[in-house]
Amino acid sequence: WHLRLAGHHPVVYDMAERLGGKITSAIPDSRIPGDILQGELDRIESVLEHVRLKTRLVASDFQAIINEHDFVVLATGAQKPRNLPVPGSERLVTALDFLQQSKAGKAPTGRSLVVIGAGNVGCDVATEAGQVGYTDITLIDIQEPASFGKEREEAEKFGAKFRWPCFTKEITDEGVVLTNGELLRADTVVVSIGDQPDLDYLPSSVDTSRGFVTVDKTWQTTDPRIFAVGDIVRPGLLTHAIGAGRKAAMVIDAIIKGRRPLGDPATMREADLVSLEYADLQADRSETIDYSRITLEYFDPRRDVFSDTGQCATECSSCGSCRDCGLCADICPQGAIHRAGLGNEKFEMVSDPARCIGCGFCAQVCPCGIWTMIPNTPLE
Ligand SMILES: Cc1cc2nc3c(=O)[nH]c(=O)nc-3n(C[C@H](O)[C@H](O)[C@H](O)COP(=O)(O)OP(=O)(O)OC[C@H]3O[C@@H](n4cnc5c(N)ncnc54)[C@H](O)[C@@H]3O)c2cc1C
Ligand code: SF4
Ligand code: SF4
Repeated sequence: WHLRLAGHHPVVYDMAERLGGKITSAIPDSRIPGDILQGELDRIESVLEHVRLKTRLVASDFQAIINEHDFVVLATGAQKPRNLPVPGSERLVTALDFLQQSKAGKAPTGRSLVVIGAGNVGCDVATEAGQVGYTDITLIDIQEPASFGKEREEAEKFGAKFRWPCFTKEITDEGVVLTNGELLRADTVVVSIGDQPDLDYLPSSVDTSRGFVTVDKTWQTTDPRIFAVGDIVRPGLLTHAIGAGRKAAMVIDAIIKGRRPLGDPATMREADLVSLEYADLQADRSETIDYSRITLEYFDPRRDVFSDTGQCATECSSCGSCRDCGLCADICPQGAIHRAGLGNEKFEMVSDPARCIGCGFCAQVCPCGIWTMIPNTPLE
């Protein structure tokens, strides 16, 4: 998206049938309604010229892809579920499989379900299981569960019980046998103890550490033409993956347009690092975005009325503190907003009064309430 906005011609490869990664395939619809998501995906597809779906990247393709393109951004996420090394582990359903099947209306059915791993993903499994008819749902963990917030509340609404510390000895036809001999009966047992990236396709020029790709602060790997963002670098949230993608795109844009050398930022001169801070995308935006295309269609303000501050906080917690999403700069039809680096990784979003037409889009779109519209002084 950001590379295309900057005038480049990125090619997106994905082995899935639809774009979007886990938000499309695994994150429950209750989190983001299907029609909203589809609208976003349609918008992205309408801007990207080259999307190659159902294309699984393997090691033998990789060199060709590097040769054909100036840069490669790895964003293949963490798709390899961790399994438990216990007898009967082949009976386990992985959380990702369960959620993907549930999203496709094909979840394994039953009455009782045990989820091994009581984090937020385990809670999502419990909630989906409750929705497809499981009535006896137990989540076990070796320690006090790290789950919290809406995911946990939703699971509890379906009567999910949380138990810890519980150590799994074996999975049998009857359910989960714990090391203390107790049997937790279950029609379905789901394992939800985290996912690892599948890095088999990576060339040796890209270093990894503990199963994740090593990057510097600009998301550049040890191969300067290869960047990596999202869960392939470290497990995180959608916002982390999206933010990293934006930053990597800006750095690549700066390199292509000669504002930054290709090399390792650690060894760069201070002057080069300044241009790395944030490339000025606004300067090129008019080349690719026709102003007539910027319409209210793209403008979907967040809900700004909350029943209480608790509800508000569970949705965001970023009130009054810019989270650097860049939405205001993207949406401004005048290109009036830019991100000004203040040194020491500090920055501020600045609106140019000479360009601002007072449409108020930035104030409406900002999820953190940063922008305040002030009435003009009436002309004499
Ligand atoms: C159940 C669940 C619930 C979550 N809920 C939330 C939430 O509410 N909010 C939140 O912010 N985050 C949530 N997350 C985390 C979020 O999903 C991830 O942080 C985010 O999806 C990471 O994005 P990504 O682009 O790195 O990877 P992914 O979203 O995993 O996308 C990777 C893409 O790469 C493709 N791919 C993989 N290997 C290859 C290959 N070899 N060749 C071609 N294509 C390949 C895949 O098909 C996929 O489309 C949740 C995660 C899970 C599992
Ligand atoms: S109000 Fe001004 S700064 Fe904000 S989006 Fe409109 S033109 Fe841009
Ligand atoms: S002002 Fe708001 S919209 Fe703009 S970058 Fe900051 S948080 Fe994002």
